[in-house]
Amino acid sequence: MSSTSQQRVILVTGANKGIGFEVVKKLAKESPINNNIILLGCRDLKRGQDALVRLGSPSNIYLLQLDISSRDSIARATDEIKCKYGGQLNIVINNAATGELELTVESAREMFSINYYGIKTLNEHLLPLIQENGRVINVASACGSILLYEASKDLQEKYSSSTLTTEQLDRLVEDFISAIATNTTEELGYNPKSSYLIYSVTKAAVIALTQIEARQWSSAKNVLILSVCPGYCATDINKNAPDARPAEFGADSILYVVNAPQSELKNGCFYRDGQQLPQIGFINRKN
Ligand code: NDP
Repeated sequence: MSSTSQQRVILVTGANKGIGFEVVKKLAKESPINNNIILLGCRDLKRGQDALVRLGSPSNIYLLQLDISSRDSIARATDEIKCKYGGQLNIVINNAATGELELTVESAREMFSINYYGIKTLNEHLLPLIQENGRVINVASACGSILLYEASKDLQEKYSSSTLTTEQLDRLVEDFISAIATNTTEELGYNPKSSYLIYSVTKAAVIALTQIEARQWSSAKNVLILSVCPGYCATDINKNAPDARPAEFGADSILYVVNAPQSELKNGCFYRDGQQLPQIGFINRKN
């Protein structure tokens, strides 16, 4: 299947369940109007197949096996996009992530390999395939803004610096992971009482990464690179919290930054429910 110039090719990672699944469902419904080709990213093909069946197997949704914590899987998926879809991508929605595990170096390493390095590596592979006026949407969380609000001034300045590089951001991340082993995250400037500490640092890093990527890539092809919080939604990541809103509301928050006119969006910025959020701020988590 190769795409035609009018079609948008959209990849959603981690789309076999939760918010990503709802994003795909809504994109598929839009499709008779805008002719989308939707790539449903799943690390496990069986779980992807089941999701496709639940969606009624529409003809414009294709499965793409993609484990974002694996460089090999990312390379294979990139080749598949080149071979099957003419190497054309219009929108990438980096939705896949994992939630809080225990406070150990191993857990942190695993979580960063998905939530931060996974997005970074996938974008390095896919940004060259993004078409003129394309968009890359990195799904973050208000937890990242709150984490920085509760952190030291020094850390706030480092994460929000307009000259921050990916190498410096990797260093911040690696220092945090090492500090878990020595129980010295507080000395680095993190507040050990911050909720979901490791998860929140991964999301603060994604918000900062988005700003760096926007600076690096936007001028090349008029690409918009944005981060977005879907809001607090009942999914497996929070054991379907009874006080959270349905996942489809989270999908709407993501789809706003996919579809809003370029004039309504600021490159590199962070959004939730159509509103720009601060990188550092005490934001109501439960929206
Ligand atoms: P879910 O746990 O329901 O879904 C997570 C998805 O990510 C699953 O499809 C999972 O696949 C996939 N995934 C996990 N690891 C990998 C990997 N290594 N490679 C590829 N896919 C992977 O979570 P949500 O739908 O709630 O989360 C979606 C996004 O929204 C995440 O980025 C999350 O951090 C963010 N978010 C969610 C909030 C909420 O309240 N739900 C609030 C703020 C942000 P599998 O089924 O194989 O495990």
